[in-house]
Amino acid sequence: MKIQQHPRMKDIQVGDEVMCYRNHLYARVEEVFPAAVCVKIALLRSIDGHPVMTYVPQLWRADEIENLSVCHYCGSRADLSIEQSTGAPFRVCSTCRSVLEAASVTSALAPLERRNH
Ligand SMILES: [Zn+2]
Repeated sequence: MKIQQHPRMKDIQVGDEVMCYRNHLYARVEEVFPAAVCVKIALLRSIDGHPVMTYVPQLWRADEIENLSVCHYCGSRADLSIEQSTGAPFRVCSTCRSVLEAASVTSALAPLERRNH
């Protein structure tokens, strides 16, 4: 049986930051599979009363994750910056950022235009 690659997986590389919608965790990709990624979650555990940081591998399915290391809108890796408005650390490329800025100026002006008519 041939395993089909999930379309989202083609943009994901080892070392990318991904967010999981299921458990709302962020992690760095350790390994890429056709329809899932392997990440390591840092957990603080108590061993004999001492806090010890341990890393637990987890598999996250492609349809549960968002790649935060590429542009949120187009998937580009060129000239990225963090989008501040959403609360989540999505990255936006310079092209999409200029489109978004133009759109937000237009929507900010729309009520003014309506009032004038
Ligand atoms: Zn973009």
